[in-house]
Amino acid sequence: MIIRARTVVTMDGAPIENGAVAVSGNRIVDAGRFDDIKTRNAGSGVDLGEQVLLPGLINAHCHLDYTCLRGKILPQKSFTDWIRAINAEKSELSPNDYVASINDGFAEATRFGTTAIANLTAFPELISQVQPPIRTCWFAELIDIRAPERANELVDSAIEALKQNSNWGLAPHALFTAAKDLFRRCEEIAQQEHILLTTHLAESREEMEMFRDGSGPLYEFMKSIGRPMNDCGIETPLGLFLDLIGSRGSPNRPRAIEVNRPYLSWIVAHLNEVTENDFELLERSNSKFHVVHCPRSHNYFGHSPFAFDRLRSFGSNICLGTDSLASNESLSLFAEMRAFQKEFPSVSPEEILEMVTVNPARALRCENALGQIRPDFEADLIAVPCSGSTDIFEQIFAFDAPVSWAMVNGNM
Ligand SMILES: [Zn+2]
Repeated sequence: MIIRARTVVTMDGAPIENGAVAVSGNRIVDAGRFDDIKTRNAGSGVDLGEQVLLPGLINAHCHLDYTCLRGKILPQKSFTDWIRAINAEKSELSPNDYVASINDGFAEATRFGTTAIANLTAFPELISQVQPPIRTCWFAELIDIRAPERANELVDSAIEALKQNSNWGLAPHALFTAAKDLFRRCEEIAQQEHILLTTHLAESREEMEMFRDGSGPLYEFMKSIGRPMNDCGIETPLGLFLDLIGSRGSPNRPRAIEVNRPYLSWIVAHLNEVTENDFELLERSNSKFHVVHCPRSHNYFGHSPFAFDRLRSFGSNICLGTDSLASNESLSLFAEMRAFQKEFPSVSPEEILEMVTVNPARALRCENALGQIRPDFEADLIAVPCSGSTDIFEQIFAFDAPVSWAMVNGNM
């Protein structure tokens, strides 16, 4: 099949005017100028007309469990109050509510041109009741704060539910809700099974206060529910995390950034609170980070400014995510790109689009299959309207409606 569009943005070179993509089965076989593609490939044609064809978008951090909480929790005075509020909402929900919520989330993400998603679920046992319409990497979100002695059991039952999926990983929720042993167990399994890991790290000022200073609202809340607090008042969240996963590097390590340092198997969500000392740790660490920034959730919480330039200068692979609808209005990555652009107007539009295509594909270890329009890549494509009048990337960012045409795994 040959799909023609006014412009094809491949993310593998400059946009192609009057371009086309040839697809066979679930694979892209050719991409280029329409005249050349027609000559080189046989097959039926689809003309998308005045549209730009681009790779399907990839959401690097999401919790579809909470799609039903849109608009339910107003911004709170503190992050800890928000945790209390979401816990209260969650106590009202049944397994059926969660299944419905996850399905609604998939439908909404799909409408907004998302074709792959890293989705954290607190209920891996419900996955078998859901048929995702898009590529999904399921992460079991693990919290052992109330029963740390059962951490291994928790991990084993999550894996049992996850392993029938082709893409899965583990997500110890955060340093304040998952014990060190749980993080270490997940790290061990990741090395054996070659799975992905993700966690929330250094998201709020209160998390920084809890670990570095041993005080503040999150510290008091966690203490009140019986969390052992002997890891607090010592280190920043990032310092603790690097110690936990054995990736601190050496203080004598040269500061020069080596381009070929390997990436961590961890996809780190947020990383909003980073001290000068933390930046030094990042510079000296023997691994590079995948970092997910969630611009609209970030604004909702009023977190400290995201250190995009510095994180990027240390070789971090920066992706965008929507987070959940308990702290966001929609699952549109177009809206995330707009919010990011407003926050960082000097970043090139192409680089912003990379954060929802090429970069999350790399974080999910699919950089040779997703995120670009290239021969042998998966046929995950979307189209949005365009005209010749303004910059093509600006037209993509401005898009604020359901996509009219999409292909996932070769299926329209
Ligand atoms: Zn999250």
